[in-house]
Amino acid sequence: SPPSPRPSELQLHDVFIAVKTTQAFHHSRLELLLNTWVSRTREQTFIFTDSPDESLQERLGSHLVVTNCSAEHSHPALSCKMAAEFDAFLTSGLRWFCHVDDDNYLNPRALLKLLKTFPQTRDIYVGRPSLNRPIHASEPQPHNRTRLVQFWFATGGAGFCINRKLALKMAPWASGSHFMDTSALIRLPDDCTVGYIVECKLGGHLQSCPLFHSHLETLQLLEAAQLPEQVSLPPLSPLPGYSLVPAAGGLMNPEPLVKDWAEALWLSLASQAALRARGR
Ligand code: UDP
Ligand code: MN
Repeated sequence: SPPSPRPSELQLHDVFIAVKTTQAFHHSRLELLLNTWVSRTREQTFIFTDSPDESLQERLGSHLVVTNCSAEHSHPALSCKMAAEFDAFLTSGLRWFCHVDDDNYLNPRALLKLLKTFPQTRDIYVGRPSLNRPIHASEPQPHNRTRLVQFWFATGGAGFCINRKLALKMAPWASGSHFMDTSALIRLPDDCTVGYIVECKLGGHLQSCPLFHSHLETLQLLEAAQLPEQVSLPPLSPLPGYSLVPAAGGLMNPEPLVKDWAEALWLSLASQAALRARGR
């Protein structure tokens, strides 16, 4: 019999990359992203914010998504943006949903390499757990009772990905207004809510991956040579050595040479921090 048609090999253009930001960071954080990794994933990347911005709109067009979410740092405001990201992914028809914060460095090549390792037949939720144990939540039950639940979740600040197969199953709790309702129910932030839906509602599991990084960890186990294999790198600001960055006014310059330099700077700061951490 003829071989059954195989789904085509995953490409970067099958991945939906959502970046969460807010008005206060349109300049200070997004500029660096637009000058580094976003410049190489323009087609895939959508920036979710809370306030209109003419100059960003001009640069990003439909890739800037101005949500109706509030610009505050509250659970509902952050969940509102995650909901908008999730819905836009469902509408896109793409094969993978990946979320990152606006202070993350994303390595598209390493991301694609990772996502290619997963069989399409499985539900996948992959990222870095922010704790070394499951988080607890109390789930309201009928008649004023509560049920204690526990689950793993991927820290949003390191980035995480979900495949379409799983995302479709999550829709009853994650699409439209459901995401905010779910988040309010367990009174936990957006990234915890994703873990709750996957593990407690669907019986799925977070696949822990050490290639995602947030500033909640030190990069002590990373050598410079391993940096190109990492899927995400933590923001520069909390790392020692950050003082170089404010001096780097050239980051605002869109010339290609400067773009490469900004990227090199990000990578070298991360590797310096890693070396220092190893020496401690
Ligand atoms: N953020 C937001 N609204 C706010 C504050 C932060 O959408 O009022 C976003 C911010 O752009 C980032 C993420 O939430 O993508 C995490 O914020 P931040 O890095 O400042 O805090 P962290 O939790 O990492 O310390
Ligand atoms: Mn952060």
